[in-house]
Amino acid sequence: MNDTGFHCGYVAIIGRPNVGKSTLLNHILGQKISITSRKPQTTRHQILGVKTSATSQVIYVDTPGIHTRRNTAINRYMNRAASSVLGDVDIVLFVVQAPQWTEEDETVLRRLEEVDAPVILVINKVDKVQEKSELLPYMDRLMSMREFEKAIPVSALHAQNIVDVEAAVAEYLPVNDAYFPGDQITDRNMRFLAAEIIREKLIRELGQELPYTSTVEIERFEEGDTITRIFATIYVEAKGQKAIIIGKKGARLKSIGTKARKDIETMMDGKVYLELWVKVREGWSNDERALNSLGYSTE
Ligand code: GDP
Ligand code: MG
Repeated sequence: MNDTGFHCGYVAIIGRPNVGKSTLLNHILGQKISITSRKPQTTRHQILGVKTSATSQVIYVDTPGIHTRRNTAINRYMNRAASSVLGDVDIVLFVVQAPQWTEEDETVLRRLEEVDAPVILVINKVDKVQEKSELLPYMDRLMSMREFEKAIPVSALHAQNIVDVEAAVAEYLPVNDAYFPGDQITDRNMRFLAAEIIREKLIRELGQELPYTSTVEIERFEEGDTITRIFATIYVEAKGQKAIIIGKKGARLKSIGTKARKDIETMMDGKVYLELWVKVREGWSNDERALNSLGYSTE
């Protein structure tokens, strides 16, 4: 029974890779739970971000973008994660990057055809649009493509108009009791978030040089009274990739480790000891069994 007028629901954040979905979520939550970068494959797992106020709880589902370029096991996994949420949510935020409209946006739009939930169009990166007069015709064009409840221009990175997105979400939130405790902001544990932070530093440090197939596994995660000890392995597919990540005299790996440790310390609000290893595991990204053992459920 809900006689308090409390509202609670699920909101999917969808869109092609790189439009700023994870950045938007982090700014809504006021805390980084989803890693971001310029590279398309940054978000691989579905992650929940929970925002609770006195009157409502919004559960945002950050999805990996829908990938169409390569039909590998990892892309199939990411597409499934992105598509499966659409049937179960109360509201969809469809994020696009102004003033672009690509084939990949078109693919996402097509997936929305089967969606009954209200769809709010979030037009991101307006800070990058030089000619602001381009925005209105762009918005009109998108609004003619399907029924959107609203179109909201934002800059996720500069936290502009984010409150408008939250206000629009609040309008469509169903009456429900809270599903999560009020102080919980994500469904993922520290161990998962630590691995993600390491992966973010790896992506940012290596840019285009990073093998698309690297992944991070936490071997040990020991929370002590004064310090948390984390032992992690970065998996790559070839020896050459291992050398690139380690860098000259280990300088690169050290820099990745230092940056990751600082972010993990902020997240955990305490001291962290981080040890990083790089290992070669051949062919994992196209191997369903290896994916399972690395925590990507391919069922
Ligand atoms: P996702 O793949 O959709 O989750 O995209 P990310 O959140 O990882 O963002 C992709 C890139 O776009 C990152 O480099 C972000 O810093 C950048 N970005 C996100 N939002 C904005 C924005 O509003 N303005 C600008 N200029 N860059 C943004
Ligand atoms: Mg993302």
